[in-house]
Amino acid sequence: MNKPQFHIEEFFKNNKKDLSKVIELSLKVKEGIEEIDPFIHQNTSVVCPECEKVCCINRHAYYNSEDLIYIYALGLTPHKYKHLDDKEPCQFLSGNGCVLERSIRPSGCNWYFCGSLYDSMEKIPKEYTEFDETLRYLAEAWMEMIKEFRKKYREIAGDEMLVTDIVRNYTL
Ligand code: SF4
Ligand code: SF4
Repeated sequence: MNKPQFHIEEFFKNNKKDLSKVIELSLKVKEGIEEIDPFIHQNTSVVCPECEKVCCINRHAYYNSEDLIYIYALGLTPHKYKHLDDKEPCQFLSGNGCVLERSIRPSGCNWYFCGSLYDSMEKIPKEYTEFDETLRYLAEAWMEMIKEFRKKYREIAGDEMLVTDIVRNYTL
């Protein structure tokens, strides 16, 4: 069987027209993430430098198969990994935080908000409410994107999409 990332990439290349709704939804997700980015950054820049248990470790740096669908729908190529110790600080972490644009970080990074971060965000009620609404909208668009991809995969490939493993088991 093809490695998942190549399998998904190939499927996009060969069926771009049929996957137009998936592509449209991936753009909506990207725009939504870009919209909430300043508010998240405003809070992480205060909370994270004080953190004693930084959540950015190598284990969280990998795309899962849904992330790959999103990345290829955007017409992008997954970033390169060095396979380092899972528990060590993430290879994409710099002195100024993550070097990846938020919209292309692994979904596990983008959907995770620790208690301290939530506490900080909730102190700014108006912005927090807007952020929360956008996040819900994003989650719905993401689920719809994956559902549509699987539907098209079934229709075109005549099979269920079985790729559920994460990329870390493969050499990029
Ligand atoms: S998001 Fe939370 S757990 Fe992660 S580094 Fe910032 S304060 Fe720490
Ligand atoms: S947000 Fe960036 S630095 Fe943090 S775990 Fe994710 S990829 Fe690594």
